Amino acid sequence: MKMNRNHERVHIDEGNMCRLCAAEIKEIYSDLSLSEEELDILAMPRRAFIVRFPVKTGTGKTRMFVGYRVQYNDARGPAKGGIRFHPDLTLEHMSDLAFLMCLKCAVVNIPFGGAKGGVLVNPKELDRNELELVTRGYIRAIADFIGAFRDIPAPDVYTDEQIMAWILDEYERIKREHCPAIVTGKPVALGGLKARKYSTALGGIYILEEALKERGMDKTGTRIAIQGFGHVGKNAARLLHEKGYKVIAVSDSGGGILDREGLDIPSVISHKKTSRGVTGFSGAQGISNEQLLTCDCDVLVPSALSSQLHSGNADDVKAKIILELANAPTTAEADEILFKKNVLVIPDVLANSGGVVVSYFEWSQNLNNDYWDEEKVLEKLRQTMISAYRDVHAICLQEQCRMRKSAYKIGVKRILHAERLRGNL
Ligand code: GLU
Repeated sequence: MKMNRNHERVHIDEGNMCRLCAAEIKEIYSDLSLSEEELDILAMPRRAFIVRFPVKTGTGKTRMFVGYRVQYNDARGPAKGGIRFHPDLTLEHMSDLAFLMCLKCAVVNIPFGGAKGGVLVNPKELDRNELELVTRGYIRAIADFIGAFRDIPAPDVYTDEQIMAWILDEYERIKREHCPAIVTGKPVALGGLKARKYSTALGGIYILEEALKERGMDKTGTRIAIQGFGHVGKNAARLLHEKGYKVIAVSDSGGGILDREGLDIPSVISHKKTSRGVTGFSGAQGISNEQLLTCDCDVLVPSALSSQLHSGNADDVKAKIILELANAPTTAEADEILFKKNVLVIPDVLANSGGVVVSYFEWSQNLNNDYWDEEKVLEKLRQTMISAYRDVHAICLQEQCRMRKSAYKIGVKRILHAERLRGNL
C-alpha cells in the first residue's frame, strides 16, 4: 500500500479508486509512470454524499428514501452524469460509475467532469404520482450541490425524460428562474433534443461500424445478440435492424428470445409493449440472459447492468466483438480472458459515450438558446464518435493493447493535464 504526502493511504492497492477498473488503472499507473500526486488526485471522489428525504406515499404514510450523488472530478468542466432509480445502489458503486463518467467525457473530449447518482428504490413498486414525489424530494435534497456549471444530471437506469422534466421543474421552482441547462435528456418541448433518446445506441453503432471495417467483417451475415431491452438495448436493436443487421437474440430482466434467422425487431417492440417483456414472442426460442451472453453470434451488445461478463462465463463467449453499451458490463478477469481469445471488447467509456455527447450538445444549445436540427446533431455525434474511436484505436495499434486500456490512458492523461493547468499538480 502506498502513502501520500499526508500519510493517508493511497487507494490504488486496494482498488478503491474504481473497483470496476482497478486492474486497468494499476497498469496505466505504471505505464504512464504516474507520480503519487497524480495518482492521489484521482484516488477518491471530490464529493460524495448520501441524502435521506421523506415522501408521503399513496397510502398516506411517510416513507424515507435514500439518495446518492458522487461528483468524482470536475477539472475539465462541470460534473456530468446520470441519475438511476434502482433497489441495489451503493455509494461505492455510484463512485465507480462517476469515475467512469470522468473518463468517458475525457475520452470523447467534451468539457465535462464525471458524476453519478440515484435513489435507492424499485421504481416498479411506485405509482406515477409517487415516482414524481420521489424525484422532486431527491432534487430538493441535492439542489444546493447541482447546477448548470456545477453538476448536470441526466437519465440512467430506470429514469426517463419525464423524470428529467420533473427534475427541471423542481430545480427551477427552488431557484425561481428558468435554467434549462440544469439537466439533459429532457423532453423536446422543454429544451431537450430528439436524438438524445437514441444517441447512446446510435453512437455505439457508429463505433461498431468502424470496428467491423477494421476487422474486415461484412454487414450482411453479421449476427448480433443484445442483452437488455431498456432505452439503450431497444434502440440499438431497432437501429441495427433498420440498418440491415441480423439481430438474432434480445433479452430483458424477464429472460430472452433467439431466432437464428433474425428477429423482426419492430414486432418484438410491439410485443414487449403489450406483454411487458420480450419473452413469449411467437416463433422465437426462449433463452435465459446467461444463454444470450454465450450464444453463437458475431457481435454481443451488453446493454443492461454491470458485471454481466465474468470469469465464470467469459470463456464461453462466441462473439468476435463486444460492444459495451451498459456501464461496466465486463469484469477485469473477463476482460483478460476475452483479450486472450482475441475478442475485441469496445469499452463502455467509448462505446456508450454517445449519450453524454448529445447531452453536451443539449446543454450548450440550452445555454446559447440556439437549436440545431436533428440532422446536424447526428452528424456532429458521428464526427465526435469516429474521432474518439480513431484516437483510441491509434494507441491500441501502437502498443498492441486492449481498447479499454488505451481509452483509459487517453482519459487519465486528459484529466491530469487539466489538473496541471489549474495548478493542482
Ligand atoms: N447515463 C448516461 C451515461 O452513463 C448519462 C450521461 C449523461 O448524459 O450525462 O453515460
